[in-house]
Amino acid sequence: MIRPLHPRHALLAALALALPLTTALAAPVAKQQTQVPGYYRMAVGDLEITALYDGYVDLGTNLLKGASAEDIQGLLARMFIESSKGVQTAVNAYLVNTGKHLVLVDSGSSKCFGPTLGGILGNLKAAGYQPEQVDSVLLTHLHPDHACGLLDANGKPAFANATVFVSQDEAGYWLNPDVAAKAPADSKQFFDMAQNAVAPYKAAGKLKTFAAGDALVEGVSAAPSPGHTPGHSGYLFSSKGQNLLVWGDVMHSHATQFANPEIAIEFDVDSPRAIASRKQVFADAARDKLWVAGAHLPFPGLGHVRSEGKGYAWVPAEYGPIRNDR
Ligand SMILES: [Zn+2]
Repeated sequence: MIRPLHPRHALLAALALALPLTTALAAPVAKQQTQVPGYYRMAVGDLEITALYDGYVDLGTNLLKGASAEDIQGLLARMFIESSKGVQTAVNAYLVNTGKHLVLVDSGSSKCFGPTLGGILGNLKAAGYQPEQVDSVLLTHLHPDHACGLLDANGKPAFANATVFVSQDEAGYWLNPDVAAKAPADSKQFFDMAQNAVAPYKAAGKLKTFAAGDALVEGVSAAPSPGHTPGHSGYLFSSKGQNLLVWGDVMHSHATQFANPEIAIEFDVDSPRAIASRKQVFADAARDKLWVAGAHLPFPGLGHVRSEGKGYAWVPAEYGPIRNDR
């Protein structure tokens, strides 16, 4: 029980608060300068979802196509994004504990890029799991920020007990020597990185390719969204009437592409197809009220999409305890 303060005590307390604090704070307190661990957890039905942060990359606005530079700057400014040094873009992966399986969707960048990326293994451990516990890795596509994390910093398989799944169309492009041989010189490295990342899994018979409709891990189905890459695919997790779509690279710039899904990114293999997929996925997610997990949404990248005007808007998940009751 809280008793009200005696009026005299209340006066003394008020005076104590009014004393100058400068003397007490004379010695500066060292700043911590570290961020909290890069994981975030929530439940979807009986599934436990852990978002894992790989890091960030600053993307130049010149990579965005399909709207005038002025319009793009306007959309960024509306979201308080100062873009002169590039727009900070998160790279996320998602660990799903189904109760039977521990499934990782995408694996981050490992050593393929600079020091601002490559945090998936550290954050997976910080989140209470060990890489050996992962039994399935589902890749949305074979770009290096999604596939390079199949290997650890020493180039060894990071997930010793996992089978890696990727769509047939994706494997048929990036892992095909004939396609790689015809690729423009500046994209050759992407073929090399993809082939290198899956090589030990393929050699061990643990790389599985799938076609539309094939069974994957129990409770998970592929949701193809081609265009960004030829076999790009999201994954739909379902439990107790709730659905989570882990959508990979359906979009890269939340500030511009929700408002205007016609805006595309330079990295798309087939931009018109990527735009069509983005519009379809946004429409489906908004209509079906799906939980969404996005590889390049601001971390943790979990939330919903809603219609707004001619486009869409992002509604991020609210921080809180892990609740199975809604
Ligand atoms: Zn990506």
